[in-house]
Order: sequence, then C-alpha cells, then structure tokens
Amino acid sequence: MATPWIGLTPALNQQETHLMAHESFFTALTHYGAQPVLLPLTDCEETLSACVERLDGFILTGGSDLDPLCYGEVCRPWCGAIIPRRDEMELKLCRMLLAAGKPVLGICRGFQVMNVTLGGSLYQDLEKELETDEPLAHRQHQPDHFPAHSIALTPSSRLHHILGHETRVNSLHHQGIKRLGQGFICTAVSPDGLCEGAELTGAPFFVGVQWHPERMWQQDAAQRKLFEAFLAACAPDQKA
Ligand code: MN
Repeated sequence: MATPWIGLTPALNQQETHLMAHESFFTALTHYGAQPVLLPLTDCEETLSACVERLDGFILTGGSDLDPLCYGEVCRPWCGAIIPRRDEMELKLCRMLLAAGKPVLGICRGFQVMNVTLGGSLYQDLEKELETDEPLAHRQHQPDHFPAHSIALTPSSRLHHILGHETRVNSLHHQGIKRLGQGFICTAVSPDGLCEGAELTGAPFFVGVQWHPERMWQQDAAQRKLFEAFLAACAPDQKA
C-alpha cells in the first residue's frame, strides 16, 4: 500500500511566532506508515488548493475557540481565546475539502470547524450553556489519555462500525456542538446529551470527534481503529 500523505492544520503559539501541532499526531501517523505534513497558516487560495490536490487526507486539529461570528453569534464573556487567521484558513480549507471529496478527520476544535462549515453552531461554554440535569466534566483533570466519560454510538453509523456500541473517551474541551450543520449526522453522544461525534453520509470520510484519539491510541484499541479507518480511506490505492 502506498504511503498516504496527511495534512495537519497548524495551531499558533501565543506570541504568534511558531506553528504547531501536538506531537502525538506525528507519532500516531508515522506508526501507521502515513506521512504527516504540517500545513502553513494561510488562507491563500492557491496554496490551499495545491495542498488539497497533493495530499491524500487531512486532520483538522484541536486548539482555541472559533470566533462566534462564524456561526452568527456574539462573543460571550465565557468564550475563550480566538485566532481569526486560523478560523479563516480552516473554514476555507474545510469547504475546499468537502468540494474535493477528500477524507477529513476533525478532532475537538477541528470537529467544531466541520460543523460550522456546514452551517451549525457551538456552545461557547458547556458549563454555562448546555442545559442538562447530569453535567459531565468535559474538561478532565486526569492525564490526557484517560477515558473520562462514555459515549454511545448510533447503530449502523460509520463510528459505530469503527468503535462499537459504546466506548469511553478522553475529554479536553469546554465548547461543543449546539446546532448540527446541514447533512452532519450525530452518531456519538455523551450521557449529558452532547454530540461527541458526527459524520457526513455519502462523503468518502468526513468524520468529526470531540475527543482526542491521538492522545489515547497507544492505550485504547478502539481509538487505534479510528486511525486505521481514516487512513484506509486516505490510502491512494483505494482511489477510484
Ligand atoms: Mn467530552
């Protein structure tokens, strides 16, 4: 099988001098024989289009909060830090990936980017805005790989096929999916009713998850299957 080349969207450090992605992405992808590539932080159409054309799959990575303006809301005091350049790049890239039918795995913020691209909205802070009688600690205090809460998967969905009926996941987020974007189907739910995973039917692989599989794949066989399924969809040999 030829090596799939996977583009990773970059985070920006606070001083805005360095582009970054969590090292666990590089470790996981190289473990599976994929070639990770950190993308530049740009909304230049030409550059993004060259990346979309040349790379086999994309991971929209985690990071800071999206500007609520992107989903038609004002910024509440409980919304976190925003990096407009990153919002512009990722929303543009995500639209291009949808149009090109490229495999995409969205993680945490990346999942939220997918949802907003499809016209959905976000809770700016779950503790403040999610109405539930059974609040969950979505910002865990345990090590990153620790499976903090359960999720239930929708039978016959892609995520169910990969992860099974129920599994436990880590939880390192304070925002979440409020209104689902058009065509996005929620297929993973936490016990407080929050959408923790969604997929677009008909797309080769357009799956977003609220948890961080890249920080638990070494401990958790189910999360290894998620990377395997994504990379199988990215394998150049499988292209029609
Ligand atoms: Mn969670």
